[in-house]
Amino acid sequence: MGKYQPRNSFESPRFCGPRTFMRLPFVEQLDEHMDFVIVGVPFDTGASFRTGARFGPAAIRDFSILLRPYNPAQQINLFEYASGVDYGDLPVVPGYILETYDKMAEGLAPVLERGIIPIVLGGDHSITLGELRAVHQKYGKVALIHFDAHSDTWDSYFGQKYNHGTPFRRAVEEGLLDVSRSIQVGMRGGLYAPEDLQEAVDLGFEVWTTDQFKSIGVAEMLKVIRNRVGTGPAFVSFDIDFLDPIYAPGTGTPEVAGVSIDDALKLVRGLDVLDIVGFDLVEVLPAFDHGQLTAAAAANIVFEFITLVALRKKAISS
Ligand code: MN
Ligand code: MN
Repeated sequence: MGKYQPRNSFESPRFCGPRTFMRLPFVEQLDEHMDFVIVGVPFDTGASFRTGARFGPAAIRDFSILLRPYNPAQQINLFEYASGVDYGDLPVVPGYILETYDKMAEGLAPVLERGIIPIVLGGDHSITLGELRAVHQKYGKVALIHFDAHSDTWDSYFGQKYNHGTPFRRAVEEGLLDVSRSIQVGMRGGLYAPEDLQEAVDLGFEVWTTDQFKSIGVAEMLKVIRNRVGTGPAFVSFDIDFLDPIYAPGTGTPEVAGVSIDDALKLVRGLDVLDIVGFDLVEVLPAFDHGQLTAAAAANIVFEFITLVALRKKAISS
């Protein structure tokens, strides 16, 4: 056997692998020089409607090569302060969500153990439960800052407890979140019943619809978020369908009358005062994308995530 062989497609799904995010080095061996890692979780078995978010990480990486290291809005060169790599994709098991959760916990544990911040590219939103389990192992209960058109707190879909519409109910039930510090922003679109949104509130979340957010604007919304989350560890989960479909058509369950990419970037930038220990960007579905619009939005939001890591690092070092 030669040393270098193609990966066995029965062991590692065919769609796993780089192009790397922002052309960062592809490094699978963790070391002390990493403040963050970019990790793909190309899994879409949790999708209730359109499938194909398994190709999200590749699409985001594919667009990300256009990004540049200096962020004028935050006045920082990211890599002057933050060092990170593309860690590749976690070994998901298509069609098997529980097995994938186990592999996610296994894959993220060493990252979190070292205090490295994972920035996860989805995948459908079911993956966030796997991330939160791993985050909880390291940090205990964390606050959730959740941008999404949907609250993803259903009890079950088709009689099943684990899919992309249920992760945050499961996370509360499993005691992974400090719900009293958690907030969901962006809910909109039709529901099944008037009390649907109330269910997330009953679980303990603070819930803001897209209309409520738009009525107060970015600056006031950020005050609300900062006030709610406070000083403890927090996790940011960004479903790309938070954006209006004109900015992000490539997603599984689009909802009209959404948020602009401008406002979304400003919201993320304004999280710079918070102690964020993990991020994800989920639900990019390239087969429904047009002209890489969705991939561009996603890559730029991830760029703002890395900026937050850099700003945090800068604040600590100065
Ligand atoms: Mn979602
Ligand atoms: Mn959603």
